[in-house]
Amino acid sequence: MRLAIDLDGVVFNHMEGLNKTHGLHLEYEKEGFPYFFEKILGVEYPVVKGMFETINPDFVPLFPGVKDALRKLNNWHHIFFLTSKTPKMMEWTKKVLQREGLDIFPVMVSEQKHLENCYDKLVEDCGQTWVLCQQAHKDCVLIDRAWNRDFTHAPRYASLGKLADSGDV
Ligand SMILES: [Mg+2]
Repeated sequence: MRLAIDLDGVVFNHMEGLNKTHGLHLEYEKEGFPYFFEKILGVEYPVVKGMFETINPDFVPLFPGVKDALRKLNNWHHIFFLTSKTPKMMEWTKKVLQREGLDIFPVMVSEQKHLENCYDKLVEDCGQTWVLCQQAHKDCVLIDRAWNRDFTHAPRYASLGKLADSGDV
């Protein structure tokens, strides 16, 4: 199976990186985050975008068990990362992937993941992307995060490790 795996919120705990870099205490990557952060932080979208683009890679941890899960999944599937990051976000992303030895996996960038034909299943944390995949008849599963629990119909796994051990892929 061609398994596309989102980076931020699935592999990377980018919210911890964002908080540590900019001295914030945000817990949620809420759907429609520009609105959310504009309201919370009182700054406009270009500033919010700049904050995400200047995350310090040293402050971005992986979620627990992710490496082990990727190793298991890689035994049976064609694994690659599918992200909608901007080119500037890719600068720190590459550093984290290299540091963690995850640069062995290809990275594909797409702002419209649900329209891509490069995967058989997409692993995501964004509920809105799951909805778009539903509409496009694409197979998408969510990794359970605080910000996607409103999407109660979505197939979900507690972690990437649970997905790897589930026998569903
Ligand atoms: Mg994500």
